[in-house]
Amino acid sequence: MPPVLAFIELTRKCDLLCMHCRASAGMDSNAPELALSRVAEFLGALKSESNRNIHVIYTGGNIALRSDIVDFMKLSRSLGMTFSLSPSPSSLVNTDFLKAAKDNGASSMSVSIDGVESTHDRIRGVSGSFHHAIRILDQAKAMRLPVQVNTLVAGETVSELPKIYGKLVEMQVPVWELFFLINTGRGDSMQDLRPQEMEDVIHWLVHLSRNIRIRTVEAPFYNRVLVSPCETIRYGNLYKYLHGMSQTPANPEDHHPPTGLHRGKTIFLASDGNVFPSGFLPVSLGSVDGKGLPPALKEYMRNDFSFPRESIGPECSLCPFFDLCGGSRARALAYTGSHLSSDPGCIMCSEFPVIKQSLHNGRAVEYEH
Ligand code: SF4
Ligand code: SF4
Repeated sequence: MPPVLAFIELTRKCDLLCMHCRASAGMDSNAPELALSRVAEFLGALKSESNRNIHVIYTGGNIALRSDIVDFMKLSRSLGMTFSLSPSPSSLVNTDFLKAAKDNGASSMSVSIDGVESTHDRIRGVSGSFHHAIRILDQAKAMRLPVQVNTLVAGETVSELPKIYGKLVEMQVPVWELFFLINTGRGDSMQDLRPQEMEDVIHWLVHLSRNIRIRTVEAPFYNRVLVSPCETIRYGNLYKYLHGMSQTPANPEDHHPPTGLHRGKTIFLASDGNVFPSGFLPVSLGSVDGKGLPPALKEYMRNDFSFPRESIGPECSLCPFFDLCGGSRARALAYTGSHLSSDPGCIMCSEFPVIKQSLHNGRAVEYEH
């Protein structure tokens, strides 16, 4: 059974100022920080309530700003849980941080790259961040600390995806996780892709997934394309651009099967102790208050799906791929005001007249260089 992925937001302080930050993090953040005892209580209760493996992901803000970050690593281990680290690509992720991650058994560490050189630095709001991302990858590789690269997919980054892919191949990064923009927090003013453009990116990623392990965040229709590319295939100009710019096509003699399904159920413990299905979906599942897991979270954990099928909009709930996908509840909320609407980013939904009207009016994406 897929694991429960428990994201723990240790802080909202961050030495970067990313354009897309859902948490609007920065060094001037006044948000509270989670104490070790509170996280221990939460994870302990989660373990006793769930029959699934729990994988913890420490995220922020920049978790490298927490002087007690090693205590959180040790906590996961003491509870028998695997853990990953998601620090911000900055000078704070130094040799000591990486060594502590390695010595305490981190399963992996994510490093964000949103473009090449100046594009990345512009998106991340601090010059030199790209340099640190590459340095961190190099140092982690030398220490044999497993890594993955995370990349934002938005109008501002999409034209550089082939260059990032080329860099990952060159650096032998095994996992590429692509986060499709949700217009929330500071990301509210960024450019989202149109459904056809998302479809093009997804088809391209499925193609690449024979060379590199692909995961998507907030684009669950990747699973639809993965299992049934022929039924839904319809390439647009963006696919042709991405495919034409990729210098390393799949080698049928040396590939693994396409990857991406069964990532697991996510839970997000925010820095103020509130629990949500994800950091992009502020639908309350209660808060951690010393009395065990809140009832809404227990109910959420019991169900196979995050939300009952019959409560979801018709385009998604009637879709033959619902069990594999279900649509992004976060994008539904950002576009329609209801997390139970169908996913307006999916090309299958976009062809339903009921929501076609509200889609991406007037947003243009520049990728034909
Ligand atoms: S590194 Fe992460 S937490 Fe920091 S500003 Fe960027 S998106 Fe926000
Ligand atoms: S219609 Fe909804 S459930 Fe079906 S593939 Fe699209 S987003 Fe997923």
